[in-house]
Amino acid sequence: MKLLRQKVINEGIVLGSGVLKVDSFLNHQMDPFLMREVGREFTRRFAGDEITKVLTIESSGIAPGIMTALELEVPLIFARKQKSLTLTEDIYVEKVYSFTKKESNEITVSKKFIAPGERVLIVDDFLANGEAAFGLARIVEQAGASVAGIGIVIEKSFQPGGRLLQKAGYRVESLVRIASLEDGVVSFVDDEEE
Ligand code: 5GP
Repeated sequence: MKLLRQKVINEGIVLGSGVLKVDSFLNHQMDPFLMREVGREFTRRFAGDEITKVLTIESSGIAPGIMTALELEVPLIFARKQKSLTLTEDIYVEKVYSFTKKESNEITVSKKFIAPGERVLIVDDFLANGEAAFGLARIVEQAGASVAGIGIVIEKSFQPGGRLLQKAGYRVESLVRIASLEDGVVSFVDDEEE
């Protein structure tokens, strides 16, 4: 996705240890026009897949998630990282190791929001080792629903998440794929890609 790639080039900041900071348009300040295009692009890629819900994880997945849900005309659910005091009903719980925070979180989703037979599109801001996406997929499957696909805004292809998810049989659609962040330079997987 050209617009997104340009934003990464212009505004992305490479931190050590393979982390890309994009807090000017995705992780702190958010660009609603870019998020709208992200939602449209995922909708174009997953058109005809009979998606009934979008599932993401708080907080950075919510912006791309809600715009995708808006375009698909379905609800968005975001998994919580902390058990809410108001989540008194039955919940699905999965353990997810956070690549950026280097700690395990329990992510939770209320059972009432995913029904058996639903087709769920998982959306997240970044894909690194695949921990978050696998955790969300396990929740969908616990509910007896199916994962229609996984939509990722920025995939870091030098980490194994994308490959592992595909090997596990999931369809992964990433809007930009980063081949390397070495020496502070962002290189993309396929420079021919639009
Ligand atoms: P994974 O679970 O695939 O290992 O990592 C994905 C999660 O970690 C995303 O939800 C995202 O919040 C965070 N993450 C991983 N890599 C990066 C990165 O390079 N930059 C930022 N901002 N977040 C990242």
